[in-house]
Amino acid sequence: MKKKAVILTGAGISAESGISTFRDSDGLWERYRVEDVATPEAFARNPQMVLDFYNQRRRQLFQARPNEGHRQLVRLEEKYDVRVITQNIDNLHEQAGSSVVLHLHGLLTQARSSVDESLIVDIGSRDIRLGDRAPDGAQLRPHIVWFGEAVPNIEPAVRLCAEADVFVVIGTSMNVYPAAGLIHYVPSAARCYLIDPKAVPVSRPVTVVCQKAGTGVKVVVDELLSLA
Ligand code: NAD
Repeated sequence: MKKKAVILTGAGISAESGISTFRDSDGLWERYRVEDVATPEAFARNPQMVLDFYNQRRRQLFQARPNEGHRQLVRLEEKYDVRVITQNIDNLHEQAGSSVVLHLHGLLTQARSSVDESLIVDIGSRDIRLGDRAPDGAQLRPHIVWFGEAVPNIEPAVRLCAEADVFVVIGTSMNVYPAAGLIHYVPSAARCYLIDPKAVPVSRPVTVVCQKAGTGVKVVVDELLSLA
């Protein structure tokens, strides 16, 4: 039976695809305040601004392509049962060919009812406009977990982490909870790696690959494939 490799990714894995990270100083987010565009209060106060922000993010995604980091992770499936848990709202892991991707914070290519969070629709590259309705008649909103909202996929993510033989963290500052807490559920016997060009504090021993995802993922994948 193949060993289970759980990969936790953040904005850093998509940086080399041209999608801005959250906290790096050149980040697009520098130009926006989280409270103005990524909270339920912002949507209640100024829905047009929030829809514009995510419509821009979606257009940017449809200009982007997976990079070597996304692609190298797919190679790992030759010898491992790979589950990707991503904080990213882009679909670049899927575009690269990863088989199992769990989105913790939602997906730009989906929208949902602003009343019933279980009513989710695929929108692809389409903008969401004021007046666009979900099947229940409520205004559509981005299918994004905003700051201050519950993270419904955290339970399945915890279950995946608890079964990991290998755990790889890529391109996340480990600042956003509950995602950052997932590492605590990984069994102590698991082989752990962290790939990031900057130092990221984590609460357990990991092999650090201090490189961008575009080169660092290959280093780790080569090592894991040679061990399997
Ligand atoms: P973050 O911006 O807090 O951290 C990004 C991390 O990536 C940093 O540690 C940085 O050093 C590292 N990094 C930068 N360039 C890299 C590269 N080329 N290769 C590897 N690592 C690189 O992002 P986060 O931890 O994911 O948390 C921010 C939140 O913002 C998340 O909730 C996420 O949903 C959201 N977000 C998503 C996207 C996306 O979908 N692509 C983009 C921006 C923000």
